[in-house]
Amino acid sequence: MANSSDKNAIWNSDGEILGNAPRWAAYRKQLNSEFPAPFKGGADTLAESMKKAVEMIDGLRPEPGGPAFLGNSSKLDYTYPEVKDCKIPEKSESLDAVMSDCVKLFKGMPDVSSPLTMSNVWPQPNNASIIASMLPLIFAPNIIEGEYAWNVHKAELESGGMLADLFGWESTKAGAVYTYGGSGCWLYGLKYALSRVFPGSREKGVRVDGKVLVSGQAHYCRQNATDWTGLGMDNVIVIPTDAESNKMDLKALEATLKDLTEKGIPVVEVVCTMGTTDASVFDPIADVRRLLDKYPNPAGYGKALLYADAVCGWSWQTFRHYDFEKNPLGFSAEALRVIRNNYEQIKGIHYADAVGIDFHKFGFSPYISSCFVYKDAAEFENIMRRGSYAYLQEVTPYNPMYYTLEVSRSAAGSLAGWATLKYLGLEGLQAVLGGILEVRLYMDSLVEKVPDMVVADPDNTGFITLFRVYPKGTDAREQFARELNDRASRADLIANNRFQQAVGEKMFEWYLSGHKINGKPSPHIAYSTGFRTASWNADGTDAEGTVYALKTYPMNVYNNSSVMDHVITCVLAARDEVEKEMNN
Ligand SMILES: *Cc1c(COP(=O)(O)O)cnc(C)c1O
Repeated sequence: MANSSDKNAIWNSDGEILGNAPRWAAYRKQLNSEFPAPFKGGADTLAESMKKAVEMIDGLRPEPGGPAFLGNSSKLDYTYPEVKDCKIPEKSESLDAVMSDCVKLFKGMPDVSSPLTMSNVWPQPNNASIIASMLPLIFAPNIIEGEYAWNVHKAELESGGMLADLFGWESTKAGAVYTYGGSGCWLYGLKYALSRVFPGSREKGVRVDGKVLVSGQAHYCRQNATDWTGLGMDNVIVIPTDAESNKMDLKALEATLKDLTEKGIPVVEVVCTMGTTDASVFDPIADVRRLLDKYPNPAGYGKALLYADAVCGWSWQTFRHYDFEKNPLGFSAEALRVIRNNYEQIKGIHYADAVGIDFHKFGFSPYISSCFVYKDAAEFENIMRRGSYAYLQEVTPYNPMYYTLEVSRSAAGSLAGWATLKYLGLEGLQAVLGGILEVRLYMDSLVEKVPDMVVADPDNTGFITLFRVYPKGTDAREQFARELNDRASRADLIANNRFQQAVGEKMFEWYLSGHKINGKPSPHIAYSTGFRTASWNADGTDAEGTVYALKTYPMNVYNNSSVMDHVITCVLAARDEVEKEMNN
């Protein structure tokens, strides 16, 4: 290539691009100041630009006491499919212009930082996890293999170690891979199970209708996993749950296992959901383990896997070392009772062969930071092993590319999870979880004080309050009891379900418009269209015999009692408005 003494010179002898260089090189000159710098010294344009972008996006935050969305309006800025009618721009844009356009995309979206946001399991990521997951974006570690991850791999390895230790496993014998979500963990679990139960399936494919046993409360991603592995969604057997506790019914599980054994049909895995998304229901994993061991698969098949879908419930295990007698964090007696109950149920997690963890749920980390943790690294990494790769060379002791689903893997999730564990520690996680629970219990107590409102699911041990609001003057407790227990009140149940929906929609409309009650914007809450069936419809045969309820999920550390007082005021105002509209 030309040097500075040539007519068509591009670089001078210091490697700087000359003024009369061709256009591509002029572009490169500009890019040289807008890609991260190779050396120390000089202005760090990345840090400056990042600071600018963060300040710009922070500018979308509302004024104190403002609404629960970002920017000045919650308007959706596009129509569909017209939005797709676009082309790659001919010329490059300035970095500032692109960043400003990028920040604009966040306008109007629900604000996860707002104490008014309580519609779902949607946690605000902690600063340590945000920053930690941004760092690998600069130097691009690829945690596919050691050479391109080097010491960054410790984030995955130490996460696995810390989590295995938390569950009560031997951490150096266990292992973990970060993957693309709780549903990714589920898929990993199923693939592990298929490879173990059908040893030839990795080459020949799955040719036997082995069964996946889950409870009726299991997450719907069971469909993704059984569909995408080719096992088929029809091979999921849903074990009924106990009507009172919503846990997997052990008698029903045993009957199914017995029946399958008699017919010579293998079980691929049993999934214990350890903390459902809303109500925090845990399947009785110790008993499931006992039954699974009692009914081994027929000869010729491997041992069925026990997978714990703990993506929502895992962090209750941090109470493993909590002194419930001394209660050093000073939780209320009621919160302590619920915490202890949840811990008592999660603590059997060590019976699982593998566990799925979402840091982006009760680990308060950014998407996606899910960790699939397995007890027996030697087994998992062997039965999942795919040959040796000429293309990649082992230069460190840890090279997960031989058994991961993904090829290139970002380190962002692993750093987010790892940084969270280190930053919050057991006590920080306990304080955050217990704090949410205190807010939730306070919300319950508020609903209990209002005659025309009722807590619809008082026994749930999670973070949501499910409640129903009735037309003014109704005795909500009596009315709800009738709807729940007496088939003769079916019409009332259905009518009042629609009423919950109407109030829920009014609340959503008010959230979107930033509608104020007593000078304060309305919260962003949600409603459920059937978190349970009516007691007279326990088998669910009557599709309309389900219970709708309004729902608050106060995940945010800025939430507090006065926010919840305001929620009650807003819901009652929305109720009045709905009644007024109905009477017109
Ligand atoms: C959220 C959730 C999932 C799915 O996890 P993603 O991270 O959203 O993929 C699976 N199981 C349970 C119990 C969940 O709550």
